[in-house]
Amino acid sequence: TQAHVEAVEAARALNAYVLETPEKALDMAKASDARRAKGAAGPLDGAPLGIKDLFCTEGVRSTACSKILGDFKPTYESTVTSHLWRDGAVMLGKLNMDEFAMGSSNETSAFGPVVNPWMAEGGNAKLTPGGSSGGSAAAVAAELCLGATATDTGGSIRQPAAFTGTVGIKPTYGRCSRWGVVAFASSLDQAGPIARTVEDAAILLKSMCGHDPKDSTSLPVDTPDFAAHVGRSVKGLRIGVPKEYRVDGMPPEIDAIWEKGIAWLKEAGCEIVEVSLPHTKYALPAYYIVAPAEASSNLARYDGMRYGLRVDGSNLTETYEGSRAAGFGAEVKRRILIGTYVLSAGYYDAYYLKALKVRRRIADDFDQAFQKVDALLTPTAPSAAFSLGQKSDDPVAMYLNDIFTVTVNLAGLPGLSLPAGLDSNGLPLGLQLIGRALDEGTVFSLAGALE
Ligand code: GLN
Repeated sequence: TQAHVEAVEAARALNAYVLETPEKALDMAKASDARRAKGAAGPLDGAPLGIKDLFCTEGVRSTACSKILGDFKPTYESTVTSHLWRDGAVMLGKLNMDEFAMGSSNETSAFGPVVNPWMAEGGNAKLTPGGSSGGSAAAVAAELCLGATATDTGGSIRQPAAFTGTVGIKPTYGRCSRWGVVAFASSLDQAGPIARTVEDAAILLKSMCGHDPKDSTSLPVDTPDFAAHVGRSVKGLRIGVPKEYRVDGMPPEIDAIWEKGIAWLKEAGCEIVEVSLPHTKYALPAYYIVAPAEASSNLARYDGMRYGLRVDGSNLTETYEGSRAAGFGAEVKRRILIGTYVLSAGYYDAYYLKALKVRRRIADDFDQAFQKVDALLTPTAPSAAFSLGQKSDDPVAMYLNDIFTVTVNLAGLPGLSLPAGLDSNGLPLGLQLIGRALDEGTVFSLAGALE
């Protein structure tokens, strides 16, 4: 823990942490030493972790990297983080992220962007670590924690993992409780870990999961020993390669890494099957209707009365307006505008309801595919890490980076990204494994075989 605390201080230029909690970390580490001395260590005892600032941590500032939360200190602990502390983990601090987890580059954070510890060979441009869990991914990649919590609404665990050469898994919707996690789009949000190895991710995920009566969408199922699946033979498994993911304009290097992944799984004894997910092309538009719709509703609670920031006006409406105008950043306002528009009378049927129907079709596509195969293999993102600033003025270009990840959230399935090699600039590229609902075990076995 001491070594990590020092590493975090030395790497402030990356802007991965928005709050360092060194005293708390050392206290927790001492308590862990005491447990060990008594032979009562938990599965994560002494493991120093970083926590995405979307998770509420009791008595510790939790802002979702938005000005509107000010220096909000929750009086409660999220279920996921409380599970980690129960198992002995140590908190190093809170990690930077896109504001309310809206973004793919960590550039919408009120604390400024995170810098990817990776740089292109021979280049000097600062790169994005991806988003929204950019702080989590950068901290893990730069060894500023052993592992980190993250969340994924449309790819925010997997795309940053791909951009930083780390492993990230979004479990099946409902595996991790959302209680105490600041809500973005409740029907899509899931917590999960970012870690340096597949096994670490499996160990962390096991601790994070578990039924929670305080979240009505939390699944009343047992959590398997995910780590026991890492290293298992994948011989005879059927792996689907969805043809619709061969999108126009995909860089040849992404295609090449996908082909490599296919070849590696073949060598490991898997059977490769081409499958079709015909509604894939509607996933991104459907996601960018459903997610903002839910966000606009979830964000209604930030009224300047509760939580952090308040800008006083001469009456209640003015206080609402002033607080929200000053507290939310541009991307969050854009989402609120889109969300309220697609939910408004007259447009609801044309946009929101239509998007829900598309969502159903996308889930059905996966169901069909999983009749024939045990898991799917795709690239995680259509590019390697891009430069900071490159897409920040073009929201649609930014949204397009989520093309391979949002389908998995719309269908509620588990998806894992693992590093698969470097591109010609020496930057990491990720491959994504998608499993059947609640079948993280197979996903971990395949990830172990690819690692
Ligand atoms: N990039 C996507 C968005 O901005 C996904 C974000 C996320 O998964 N939290 O909505």
